[in-house]
Amino acid sequence: MHNKVLVTGGAGFLGSHLCDALVKRGDNVTCLDNLSTGKISNISHLEKKPQFTLILQDVEDSYNVTSDIVFNLACPASPVAYQKNPISTIQTAILGAINALQLAEKNKARVFQASTSEVYGDAKVHPQNEQYWGNVNPIGVRACYDEGKRCGETLFFDYNRQRKLDIRVGRIFNTYGPRMNINDGRVVSNFIVQALRNAPITVYGSGTQTRSFCYVDDLIDGILKFTDQDEEIGPVNIGNPNEISMHELADTVCRLTGSKSQIKFMSLPQDDPVRRNPDVRKIKSLVSWKPKVVLEDGLKETIRYFKKALS
Ligand code: UDP
Repeated sequence: MHNKVLVTGGAGFLGSHLCDALVKRGDNVTCLDNLSTGKISNISHLEKKPQFTLILQDVEDSYNVTSDIVFNLACPASPVAYQKNPISTIQTAILGAINALQLAEKNKARVFQASTSEVYGDAKVHPQNEQYWGNVNPIGVRACYDEGKRCGETLFFDYNRQRKLDIRVGRIFNTYGPRMNINDGRVVSNFIVQALRNAPITVYGSGTQTRSFCYVDDLIDGILKFTDQDEEIGPVNIGNPNEISMHELADTVCRLTGSKSQIKFMSLPQDDPVRRNPDVRKIKSLVSWKPKVVLEDGLKETIRYFKKALS
């Protein structure tokens, strides 16, 4: 069956990889993006394909696209990007969710929400499981994204309870890979770009804080398997459970790039979560999915991408 699929934020890092996977499996894909953080170069290879359509559009304004499945990914997602214009970020998160839900209702479509590990905030439970309600500072600098995404989940579950929408809510943990923006401020892109330029590697705080990094192909595979199944609406965590400190990540990136960079310790941003690690038992038992790409292999692939992008 050839689905009509809408991907909001389809020109972004994750969105463009999702569009690739959907086109590859034969779906007709409409990509909706306002190019605020997405880039045409992420999807230019798809624009030649008859199955693919790009609509330049802000998800804050309502839109009408015939679809069987809607993937709602549109939102700046790196802390640097989403804190640049926090009012716009929270509007995108909330109005974008409402518009995706209303379109899904009109089309009787299944609708996937790209939620986030940020709903757990500076978590006090490790690893983070889906039952945990989180520890978010509602007035902090990360709240525009965290609370926006938490409200997105509320909207999805209320539309499910009240209007019987066929929802799927996935909580996406840190993901990396080709097509990350060079200057979006995320740790993997920062470290690789700094290492390739032999510039200081900026470790925030003492570098003991942890994250668990999932390679983008694994993540997309998880999103598709979860969205395709009929048993569970979520929320489900999607991510790689291998935890690493930022200091260790810096050392790994330096080793893999053969860089001469030195580590430069800088102040820790406000409300930076101390530990982040997904409990992925729920998605593992639901669908036959687990991340396959080990960090060093994924980093090598990402380094190759940035080498080319910087040349
Ligand atoms: N970080 C860092 N140096 C950088 C960028 C980020 O040490 O140049 C740290 C940041 O403080 C956080 C972790 O790396 O503890 C992950 O940050 P990122 O912005 O990638 O995403 P987050 O997981 O915080 O949403």
